[in-house]
Amino acid sequence: MSRQISSLLAIAAVCVTLAPAPAFAQAPKKEPVDCEQVKCIALTFDDGPGKYAGTLLDTLKKYDAKATFFLEGQYVKSRPQYVKRMAAEGHELGNHSYSHPDFTKSEAATIKSEIQKTQDAVKKAAGVEPKLLRPPYGLADLQVADIAAEFGMPMILWTAGSQDWSTKNVDAIQKQTLAVAKPNAIILMHDWVKQTVDGMPALIKTLQNKGYHLVTVSDVVKSENLEPGDIFPVPAGWEK
Ligand SMILES: [Zn+2]
Repeated sequence: MSRQISSLLAIAAVCVTLAPAPAFAQAPKKEPVDCEQVKCIALTFDDGPGKYAGTLLDTLKKYDAKATFFLEGQYVKSRPQYVKRMAAEGHELGNHSYSHPDFTKSEAATIKSEIQKTQDAVKKAAGVEPKLLRPPYGLADLQVADIAAEFGMPMILWTAGSQDWSTKNVDAIQKQTLAVAKPNAIILMHDWVKQTVDGMPALIKTLQNKGYHLVTVSDVVKSENLEPGDIFPVPAGWEK
């Protein structure tokens, strides 16, 4: 390269650097929510993607709310389009086994295969791998914790349930959820319960009016600095 051309290139590079950034680049980028500073709540949906996941995703999008989906591998396989959307729309994906066995009554090989098959199914559907494990029924023991650690995942339970699977009633689900809502709560819900999805617009509006930011589990547990194999919230009687 001649000296003249290289100095011209150098000038061009300086011009590009000094040129004002176009207006769209200066639009404020959305700051991550700091749950130590503002009221956060994490809604979590288990056993899906359920039949009503598409409607739920529409509602979450409309209200700019994020959620966490603890997915069951067999349904990831049968409804991959929802999983792809969940990831694309900024929701968190967790692993909830492939076929929902009680891990505390399962052989190590079964637990590992249940987790791995779900990791593979989510990766195939959405291009990402879950980083959180919610054992089926929220049941874990030291063997499950060791396996979670091998997979590099903390185990996430819930601070309270919406009881949606039991009441299957829009008003009851809303009342129960609001009764247990508190800063950094992790609420258990299900996107296969129609009444949960039907009542979600009103529930989200009410929570947001109370000042809650609807965020992912990773947002609310950030300050806990969970390690792989840790369990949160720590259940009564848990010893490591
Ligand atoms: Zn479950």
